[in-house]
Amino acid sequence: MVIVRVPSGESVLRPPSKCPQCEAPISPRDNIPVVSWVLLRGRCRSCGTEIPAGYPLVELSNAVLWVIAGLRFGASWELVPYALLFSVLLALSVIDLELYLLPNRITYPSMIASVVAVVVLSFATTDDPGRHIAQALLSGLGYAGFLTVMLFGFEFVTKKQGMGMGDVKLAVILGIWVGWIEPVLVVYSLIFASVFGLVVGVAVLAVRRESRPYPFGPWLALGAVAAILASDQILEAVGLR
Ligand SMILES: [Zn+2]
Repeated sequence: MVIVRVPSGESVLRPPSKCPQCEAPISPRDNIPVVSWVLLRGRCRSCGTEIPAGYPLVELSNAVLWVIAGLRFGASWELVPYALLFSVLLALSVIDLELYLLPNRITYPSMIASVVAVVVLSFATTDDPGRHIAQALLSGLGYAGFLTVMLFGFEFVTKKQGMGMGDVKLAVILGIWVGWIEPVLVVYSLIFASVFGLVVGVAVLAVRRESRPYPFGPWLALGAVAAILASDQILEAVGLR
């Protein structure tokens, strides 16, 4: 719902969901993630219009991300913000892939919520909250600062637009959550993001010749998720744990 409504400026609270074709309201029993789409065989109950498979795919992806977050963090306080973070990153990634933008209506509230959540989490779960808050916030600023330099450097050299300010705002959020675990992981996020972005970018270029805007958000997000999931292994490998 966020993916469909936020870019067009609609409210995510009201009105309740309805079929875009016949405008019939969608009853709660037809609004169960994935299950309803399968039971309705991908069609509106009242007019039979096809419901795109993207809807259940996003719902399924979100469920998978929450399971992965559960496996990584177990039953802990950390699980709550990181599972929510994964959902926000999913929404931003799909929007970026479709529209080549990361809406301020998602990035700004997420930045503020991240700062508040990191403060609460640091006091609730660590012996040294000041250090954890500082390392999270500095990592967010550091990642965003680095991408800003890259962004303007790229534009200066190529006279083309690569990344946008949306990517920089996303990097603040990613840096905070990756850096809260350990600041060095931000470097790994960037490496993973570059590898994902490069591999997919080259593949896309090979398939279609004409140049189109290239979304960086999904790869930045994926890089951070990879660094968060593999953080124990990475920190052990570099001798920090
Ligand atoms: Zn309908």
